[in-house]
Amino acid sequence: MSTTEKHHFQAEIQQLLDIVIHSLYTDKEIFVRELISNAADACEKLRFIQASGNTINQPDLPPAISITTGENTITLTDTGIGMTHGDLVENLGTIAHSGTKAFLKQLAEAKKPDANLIGQFGVGFYSAFMVASRVTVLSRSHLPDDQGWQWTSEGAGGYDLEPANDLPRGTKIILQLKDDAQEFAQPEALEHIIKRYSNFVQFPIELNGQRLNTVSAIWTRSKSDIKEEEYNEFYQYLGHDQTNSLYRLHFTADAPLSIQSLLFVPAHNFETAGMSRTESEVHLYCRKVLIQSKAKGLFPEWLRFLKGVVDSEDLPLNVSREMMQDSSLMKKLNQVLTGRFLKFLEEQSEKDPATYEKFYEQYNRFLKEGLVTDFTHKQALGKLLRYESSTLPRETRTSLADYVKRMAADQKDIYYLIAPNREAAESSPYFEVFHARKFEVLFLYDPWDEFVMEHLHEVDAKPLRSAEKAELDLADTASKEGALSDEQAQALAKWMKEIFGDRVNEVRASKRLVGSPAVILDSDKFMTSSMRRIMKSMKRESESPLAVRNDLEINPAHPLMARLDKMRVADAALATKVADQILDNSRVAAGLLEDPRAMLQRLNELLEQVLSAKT
Ligand code: ADP
Ligand code: MG
Repeated sequence: MSTTEKHHFQAEIQQLLDIVIHSLYTDKEIFVRELISNAADACEKLRFIQASGNTINQPDLPPAISITTGENTITLTDTGIGMTHGDLVENLGTIAHSGTKAFLKQLAEAKKPDANLIGQFGVGFYSAFMVASRVTVLSRSHLPDDQGWQWTSEGAGGYDLEPANDLPRGTKIILQLKDDAQEFAQPEALEHIIKRYSNFVQFPIELNGQRLNTVSAIWTRSKSDIKEEEYNEFYQYLGHDQTNSLYRLHFTADAPLSIQSLLFVPAHNFETAGMSRTESEVHLYCRKVLIQSKAKGLFPEWLRFLKGVVDSEDLPLNVSREMMQDSSLMKKLNQVLTGRFLKFLEEQSEKDPATYEKFYEQYNRFLKEGLVTDFTHKQALGKLLRYESSTLPRETRTSLADYVKRMAADQKDIYYLIAPNREAAESSPYFEVFHARKFEVLFLYDPWDEFVMEHLHEVDAKPLRSAEKAELDLADTASKEGALSDEQAQALAKWMKEIFGDRVNEVRASKRLVGSPAVILDSDKFMTSSMRRIMKSMKRESESPLAVRNDLEINPAHPLMARLDKMRVADAALATKVADQILDNSRVAAGLLEDPRAMLQRLNELLEQVLSAKT
């Protein structure tokens, strides 16, 4: 009687396999990296289990990896934790990671799918099918009483599972190479690839009986002994990345905790490519024994782009991972590591602004996320912000501290203006008074910045203030020729308020406008027009409309206002139309006009009147 069980792959895995088998032609060699990385993981897990005092199958068999080549076959063997029947079904056939779907979508949409990323999405095992027409996995778990199993698949049509006798602990993977992948069975070629990807594996690797790597935990070595090349190779191995990292921080500390740590920032932020949320990939070790890969809680969420290793002698080996996550030790580690990394960023921003610029480009949203969610590191994060400013050339960004250094003696606040881009900022009516008084204004183009400023609140005891909310007057009050007097302006404002009724809260003469006839300001002391906009966009249909809290400030020195004042006596109907239009224009400038239809209708009527007066 046959004991072979037939299994289907989960639909997503089958879909992934179809793409892997039929559409991935480049970078085939990465299967070596992925399978060795799995073997190394299995060895790390074994070492952890053993170190925590558990009984295992074949305790004297040390964790190691060996690879052999044969006629069109490659065999990878590890003496790691192995897999039970349940593990095989669970791990090699179903999706374990949330990112897999996103990866599939990306693969399916890409013209040239990038196989390289496969390991980052937790489906590295399946890269074996890029080169193999059949994959056989023989595995026996570390659990003392477990028997061995054989898993076989040709990719399409699911996989077979059957018992296998007399297996040692661990996993053996046999790849039957496809016709177009037989070059990988050449020992010289394979050796080259293994060395390239696996120099940093913490366990001995042998190829056809010959030792290839020297095992050393790079993070425990002294910085001066490590070559640039070694760091790069380690990062590429650890990060499943093809390019070098943007930043690297290798540091050790003795107090308050003993830490040896090697952290990397990838050159690209994988979240911007429309991909799902990345997971932190910093692995936690204790004296070179892996305690937890992708350790949760080691860094705050907003540093989830970091990759690397943290080794601390202070960690206990025998606590459960769940307990570890919330332990006070983990919190302390988190605090120390985060503080150190932020300090590193600050140093880098001063030492090498060009590279920092690249970093900021890729990762500013993470810093901002931290700033609004994490009170502890608010000030340190504030130092890392960079913005364009009215006094600097475009695309030059300043820190808030440098802004403070440049502040005029009579300037009390740090001013910022939220705008979609530089042109909009410079032509904004809110900017006029600053331009006239030569006060520097930071230009903020990211909608998140509004919240960032709210949370940061101040820098070096200087309050951050929205340009809209600045209580600033134009310095030269000498009344301009043709400008309305204070009484005239007041009377005009009163008349306009009567026309607008509930549409505005208040109309008053402005002391801040130069070239614009009028501007909308929010009556709420703490509200800016961009916040209003966000509130509006979040409001649901069913809710009652937001109360209008707009004030209109008019510019008594603008010719339009002087003429309007005359016209309201001469032709009240026309003057009313013009006043309405001025209000709507200001709303447009503030981004607050929702339905332009009535405004366009009126504008057309006004144009018609202009033309008929001339013809
Ligand atoms: P990832 O390594 O990111 O989890 P993979 O597709 O490479 O994704 O592997 C899937 C899972 O299969 C692993 O998480 C592991 O549980 C299991 N696995 C793969 N190779 C081995 C191995 N050599 N020994 C033990 N388990 C393995
Ligand atoms: Mg893997």
